[in-house]
Amino acid sequence: MERQEALTIVKKQLTEHRYQHTIGVMETAIKLAEQYGADVKKAELAAIFHDYAKYRPKEEMKRIILEQNMPNDLLSYNAELWHAPVGAYLVKTEVGIEDEDILNAIRYHTSGRANMTLLEKIIYLADYIEPGRIFPGVDEVRDLAKHDLNKALTKALQNTIQFLLKKDQPIYPDTIHTYNSLIMEVK
Ligand code: GDP
Ligand code: FE
Ligand code: FE
Ligand code: FE
Repeated sequence: MERQEALTIVKKQLTEHRYQHTIGVMETAIKLAEQYGADVKKAELAAIFHDYAKYRPKEEMKRIILEQNMPNDLLSYNAELWHAPVGAYLVKTEVGIEDEDILNAIRYHTSGRANMTLLEKIIYLADYIEPGRIFPGVDEVRDLAKHDLNKALTKALQNTIQFLLKKDQPIYPDTIHTYNSLIMEVK
């Protein structure tokens, strides 16, 4: 699928703000893919569709999680986590993208998982550092991303977990698994 067709499809699913974020993720993911030797075309499509399900009603996402036998524990955690696995499913069934590398990059873009693929890491990181993001610590992760993908990702996970801890929020097990897997890989 070409970029323009993909963008036209996803634009209908998003707010203008989220669409601009998506463009930022796309541009960042392409640069990271070129820099770290990932498939640039897959990075582009995964980035374009990563937030495809972001504005689906909670009830619809909940139904899909149950009907498609996705990890049930998702339902006891923050609903913010749901759009990633549900997005992978809808991008396959509604948009017709079958590539499992792309679908996994969408599926794990919010929590990550242990032993992420290069493409999964790139989409997670691009989502975190795209130019529109302005939270504390993001510049440090941007700098790390220029030289070391794993160090940048480790810092992003540390920041995310710290942020959740400060807000007294539960931490989804895959988020912890991502951090553990990275910290053991980096050493
Ligand atoms: P976005 O869709 O571009 O806004 O970004 P993400 O998909 O990466 O994240 C959506 C939200 O999920 C963010 O507000 C994160 O703080 C939140 N989030 C990520 N991991 C976890 C987790 O382990 N537990 C909880 N409760 N929230 C998380
Ligand atoms: Fe997201
Ligand atoms: Fe993210
Ligand atoms: Fe996003």
